[in-house]
Amino acid sequence: MSRERLYLFDTTLRDGAQTNGVDFTLADKLAIARMLDELGIDYIEAGYPGANPIDTSFFAEKRPLQARVTAFGMTRRPGRSTSNDPGLAALLAAEADAICFVAKSWDYHVRVALETTNEENLASIRDSVRAAKAKGREVLLDCEHFFDGYKANPAYALACAKTAYDEGARWVVLCDTNGGTLPHEVEKIVGEVCKQIPGDHVGIHAHNDTEQAVANSFAAVRAGARQIQGTLNGLGERCGNANLVSIIPTLKLKADYAGKFDIGVSDEALGHLARVSHALDDILNRAADRHAPYVGESAFATKAGIHASAIMKEPKTYEHVAPEAVGNKRKLLVSDQSGRSNLLAELDRIGFSIDKDDVRLGRLLDEVKEREAVGYAYEAADASFELLARRLLGKVPHYFEVEKFDVNVEQRINAKGERVSVSQAVVKLKVGDEELISVAEGNGPVNALDLALRKDLGKYQSYITGLELTDYRVRILNAGTEAVTRVLIESADESGDHWTTVGVSSNIIDASFQALMDSIVYKLVKSGAPA
Ligand SMILES: [Zn+2]
Repeated sequence: MSRERLYLFDTTLRDGAQTNGVDFTLADKLAIARMLDELGIDYIEAGYPGANPIDTSFFAEKRPLQARVTAFGMTRRPGRSTSNDPGLAALLAAEADAICFVAKSWDYHVRVALETTNEENLASIRDSVRAAKAKGREVLLDCEHFFDGYKANPAYALACAKTAYDEGARWVVLCDTNGGTLPHEVEKIVGEVCKQIPGDHVGIHAHNDTEQAVANSFAAVRAGARQIQGTLNGLGERCGNANLVSIIPTLKLKADYAGKFDIGVSDEALGHLARVSHALDDILNRAADRHAPYVGESAFATKAGIHASAIMKEPKTYEHVAPEAVGNKRKLLVSDQSGRSNLLAELDRIGFSIDKDDVRLGRLLDEVKEREAVGYAYEAADASFELLARRLLGKVPHYFEVEKFDVNVEQRINAKGERVSVSQAVVKLKVGDEELISVAEGNGPVNALDLALRKDLGKYQSYITGLELTDYRVRILNAGTEAVTRVLIESADESGDHWTTVGVSSNIIDASFQALMDSIVYKLVKSGAPA
């Protein structure tokens, strides 16, 4: 059976960029666009030319991408001609393959927000589509508030969509702008629209205000729509947009969709999806959502011992898709509840084959349990677990030794009369026969310690240049009689790998030091640094 083409439209750089706290530079935008292009996205909506200098410069030149680079903007303003509207002029001048106009499709908004008549709004849609077509652009119309508008005045909402389609717009996109529409409503309304406009010209743009943006996108596809708009990791204002990182694997791996539709994302590109998702988090300087479907660290994690032994025999028993398909990996949690089978499976995954009756296995299990009892969390800290296992099995080289460190926090009045606090760390290291002393200042004591530790590792320095701290989490625990601090540090390197290490102590600096050391040693092991 021949499959139908379903198109993916990414608006991370436009709608996603409207998220609170998100500020893409031009370099960020170009990097994300390249990533989306490699993934196989059909349309990349890169911004709103004329609205800000970054978007204007993005569209100042032709970008060498396979995807259709799309510029976003408003239809001509009411009461003006297309030749006398600076906003529209900027949009038409943009170096873009496609133009996505946004227009009101709810009569209430036409009256209250636009302060014009229904007829003038239709004329504005018609004139704008015509002007963009005349410039040789592919045209899309985002029908803002379409579902709310349809519920209030179906004939008018449809007339807005139909006007654009009749004028030659390639796509009419139905937007759930306020994000409150439910899947059964989307399915019904899109079905009605598709009786007037062929479904292969209809798109869906869903927001996640009832946490159903992904479900709403699929509801629209079931009803006939053939373009899905969304963002990486569901980035977007309020509760976000439809998450393409969840939509893509569902389209590729679930038989109902995979058997019916082709998308631009290849199996190979799908295998890099987790990396793409994490790369966006890195650019945003955010910690990855470990519970994200398909790509989260916990998406294929199993805890209880009985499940783990079944998973080792037959992964399908507890997994809805193969983790490798989306670039993720199976994870068997090593925790105080874990049995030997969890431990064996985890050791196997990190490349140790050890007999299930080996005495060292029992020793490792006891060690994990003892350490977890005082606050270590190995199921969150995969890299610290791996080092613990490697150490017990005698496979971690002795790279270097920290002979002593000293961290100093000073609060003083600076030359401007302001109260400032300055942290400084001094670390004395021994690498082979070489003695090294590093001093660094940081914005806090842990930052200073981290900088000093990584400043000069002598002959190992070249192995850790790509090492970067991406997240730092502190928790106070009540273990036994005294409160202790647990520090989890997430690190990444130039290859895009992420790992987490843990430290526990009654002293936060000491706990941080342990986690930092584990991260550095893990990186050296991972990079194959010689002893
Ligand atoms: Zn939106």
